[in-house]
Amino acid sequence: MPIRKCAGCGEESRQESVHVPEGGGAPDLDTRPGGEARAALERWVEVCPGCGLAAPEIEAAVEGVGELVRSEEFPRGEHPFRRQSWLLDQLGQHADAGWSELYLAWHCDDAGDRAGAAGARMRAITCWQHGKSHGQNFCDSMGEEFALAADVCRRAGLFDEAGETGLAGLELEGLPPVVEEVLRFQLTLAQRRDDGAHTVAELRQAPQGGTRVRLD
Ligand SMILES: [Zn+2]
Repeated sequence: MPIRKCAGCGEESRQESVHVPEGGGAPDLDTRPGGEARAALERWVEVCPGCGLAAPEIEAAVEGVGELVRSEEFPRGEHPFRRQSWLLDQLGQHADAGWSELYLAWHCDDAGDRAGAAGARMRAITCWQHGKSHGQNFCDSMGEEFALAADVCRRAGLFDEAGETGLAGLELEGLPPVVEEVLRFQLTLAQRRDDGAHTVAELRQAPQGGTRVRLD
């Protein structure tokens, strides 16, 4: 395991490789990958044992991060994804902060913590809305943003919001067929008040093996 020097406090620590393998099973509708990458979720961030900094690479210097991890508000006792999201939010990277909240929701899903998962999903939406008000996109296209937001609302039990988001997404012009199908699927699931995880393999026009649908 390589030694890394923390950009927050300077402490050196051994860090497991954060290499995330691609592929291996259909992703969930919220882009959570299948296979090995899914199982490696907890290794998506490095964590400094000294100051508690959580980031994809704790060595990568980000201005102001040392001050932030020393501040009283830094949620040091919380899960690394929550710490990362707090830091990103403070640094003005609201869209990325939302993604870290979604990763936290996946961690909570695995731990059977339904309330924690719903809270993280609601914070993800708040971060993404905040990001949009600052001109930050959280997906490559508007259609994908509506499709993802609909899923995140639905999984948090916000079925009315999920339905409204799905309908708003369907009003966009020129949607790729797969995104349109995801949006329609979200409407069906929201009507059924289904808050479970579903994968792109359930779509009628499921992509053939090897094709990765990118919603991220
Ligand atoms: Zn540190």
